[in-house]
Amino acid sequence: MNFCERCNIACSDEKCPKCGRKKLRAVNEDDFCLVAQVDRFFGDSLKDNLENENIECVLMPYGTGVNSNFALPLESYLLYVRYKNLDYVRQILKEANATIKRGSKCSK
Ligand SMILES: [Zn+2]
Repeated sequence: MNFCERCNIACSDEKCPKCGRKKLRAVNEDDFCLVAQVDRFFGDSLKDNLENENIECVLMPYGTGVNSNFALPLESYLLYVRYKNLDYVRQILKEANATIKRGSKCSK
């Protein structure tokens, strides 16, 4: 697995899927990797849950300042976790998304 130091993205490709940079290095267990964009409420509760399990995560406020021209909803975070926790946290997000989708279907 490769790692783009500029974007904090772990990828299997030879170049970064986000910035196209080709100078990637091998990812380390302790590198913080971008997982997903999450809304603020979800991000805060996820951080609590992860900390309870001794998993470090970083939430970067997103959608303000220089990023506001992307027209994404404000009040969101970019979620980063260490590479060794990446699969686990992705799985949590998948399950959470599935729950949210099921929930919204039921309410219609
Ligand atoms: Zn990149």
